[in-house]
Amino acid sequence: MSKLDVVVIGAGLAGLAAARDLTLAGADVVVLEARTRPGGRVEQCTTDDGRRIQLGGEIIGTFHTAYKKLVGELGLTIGPTFTQSDGETAWVLSGHRFTGADLPWMSDADRRCYDRIEQQFAALAGTVDPDDPWSHSDALALDRISLGQWLRDAGATGEVVRALELAHLALAVESVERSSLLAILRKESAAGAEGFYNYDAWENERVVEGSATVALRMAEQLGDRIRYGSVVSGVSIEPGGVNVDVTSGERLTASDVVMAVPAGPLRDIRITGVSDEKLASLWHQKHAMAAKFVAVYRNSFWEDARLDGTSFMEHNILGGTWAQGDGVLSGLVPPGRIGAYLATPAHLRERNLLDDLVTAFGSEAAQPLAAYMRSWATDPYTQGYVTAWRPGDLTAVGPLHGKHEPPFYVCGSDQWVAGYMEGAVRTGRDTAQTLLHSR
Ligand SMILES: Cc1cc2nc3c(=O)[nH]c(=O)nc-3n(C[C@H](O)[C@H](O)[C@H](O)COP(=O)(O)OP(=O)(O)OC[C@H]3O[C@@H](n4cnc5c(N)ncnc54)[C@H](O)[C@@H]3O)c2cc1C
Repeated sequence: MSKLDVVVIGAGLAGLAAARDLTLAGADVVVLEARTRPGGRVEQCTTDDGRRIQLGGEIIGTFHTAYKKLVGELGLTIGPTFTQSDGETAWVLSGHRFTGADLPWMSDADRRCYDRIEQQFAALAGTVDPDDPWSHSDALALDRISLGQWLRDAGATGEVVRALELAHLALAVESVERSSLLAILRKESAAGAEGFYNYDAWENERVVEGSATVALRMAEQLGDRIRYGSVVSGVSIEPGGVNVDVTSGERLTASDVVMAVPAGPLRDIRITGVSDEKLASLWHQKHAMAAKFVAVYRNSFWEDARLDGTSFMEHNILGGTWAQGDGVLSGLVPPGRIGAYLATPAHLRERNLLDDLVTAFGSEAAQPLAAYMRSWATDPYTQGYVTAWRPGDLTAVGPLHGKHEPPFYVCGSDQWVAGYMEGAVRTGRDTAQTLLHSR
């Protein structure tokens, strides 16, 4: 094969967005994808009665502008999510179930404490540059301390720490005790530094046609430029260009390479000719491990009890749930529980997760029309779920995070502040522009 302009590794949202822009600008591009489908961590299927079910990334937020711009270009539609429902949330705490929108088990003193600490958090987040958190005068100290420790140092009551831990469980990110404060400040700074994770900022919109349709549309446009079933095993940067090795034994040569694979699979690829500093930075990135569960019912029976399908679960296998659509509940198994989930015989896992739904929504939850389990943690081409920053990790990855070393370019949600489909699209498109301008 003659020398290509660019080889893109990975046909997730990032690789597809980069390849699409490069192709539109006239570059000769090949995308190598390990799986037999495009989309990576966005994936969908259709139920027997025609409902489209998202098994991976699903929801976006107000400030996810790069993603929404792409959705518009692809002729797709943005619509509302569960956040616009006026039903109540179910809180399954140790031994007690509460319902209500606003932390219903807390005392007024706890709520006042929560508000005070959130204001302190927002003020501190406002001092962190999301694009350069390392430049903060206290960067090292803020990265070393966990969010949980900072909350206690700031005078948070046990119930305030508990509320934040429940939020982390439901999002299936690491515990507040294993999350770098600097990383959480950086994430919320990117969202406007208004306070703790806000569902209206991060989760109030979705693509009506299904989030995986975004990837499918781009893949259609790229056509046979995408080569499926192509597992990349090596990348070597040489003076005259780039060699990319596929496990089939084939070698492709190109002027530039765009690495658009998650942090885990990236470590499985042998890379030479890139600086030790850049490799060390990439290798320090980690994922939170998670699995997704989706249960499909005839209708949204929880609404009869004035619930909206959202739940927070303190001691179950699921960390929480939300309504994906009519009669459809999504839930995540968070990192601290993935071991218990995987240690359960496969044929019992679905029953255990349905039992969790029963604790939140009652006995009707035990009988879905269909249920889907997707273990992203053990998927060889994801090896996780979303980027996680444990105390010290942001410093270890350092300012080379998301930076290119031409002709070696990197993109993907792991190269943005906090994962998300926005991160994939934003870094994918930015990478294409940077590469084109370097020519
Ligand atoms: C369960 C779940 C729920 C989520 N929910 C949301 C949500 O609601 N909102 C949101 O914004 N985000 C969500 N996310 C995160 C979001 O889906 C991802 O951050 C985003 O889709 C990642 O895109 P990417 O292109 O960076 O990586 P990926 O989608 O992981 O794409 C990487 C591609 O590289 C391929 N690959 C890996 N190794 C190799 C190799 N050696 N050779 C060739 N190809 C390789 C993979 O097969 C994959 O196709 C969720 C993720 C999961 C798993």
